[in-house]
Amino acid sequence: MYKDMKGSAHRLAPPEIAVKAMPEDERVWVPQAEGVWFRPLMLNTLVGQWCNLLRVRRAGVLSRHLHPNPVHGYVIEGRWFYREHDWVAETGSYVFEPPGEVHTLVVPEDCPEMITFFNITGSMIYLDEANKHVGYEDVFTKIDMCRAHYAEVGLGADYVDQFVR
Ligand code: FE
Repeated sequence: MYKDMKGSAHRLAPPEIAVKAMPEDERVWVPQAEGVWFRPLMLNTLVGQWCNLLRVRRAGVLSRHLHPNPVHGYVIEGRWFYREHDWVAETGSYVFEPPGEVHTLVVPEDCPEMITFFNITGSMIYLDEANKHVGYEDVFTKIDMCRAHYAEVGLGADYVDQFVR
């Protein structure tokens, strides 16, 4: 415990986050690619982890990638699958992606919109069809994207700070 300047006692814990996950303000969605956006919820700079909603409004291959660390997902709307697996994640599905997975995310033609909550630790390493490394994302690249977007749309670059721990 420690006492702040007003004498109130606190545990040594960072502040909690409680937000309406599906934002009313469209500007909160950060564009990631054509027809793809993410909505940051928690950007953990100490562990190197981020929680966000991924929204996709186009069909086809989204990305081929590797996770060195585990990923947890929960499908809020729509559906998607990994080309390498025989299951389809649908509205209400929980998905666990184990460390070391290489897979190719596909949104089917008949799905106009998918929204999935992802809890990602470490990084996303993007690969081409020959498994050549073509890019990566981590909590810091996500924060940079948020800052640039929120500055551009008038929310202010520091809008993202409420999600950073
Ligand atoms: Fe994945």
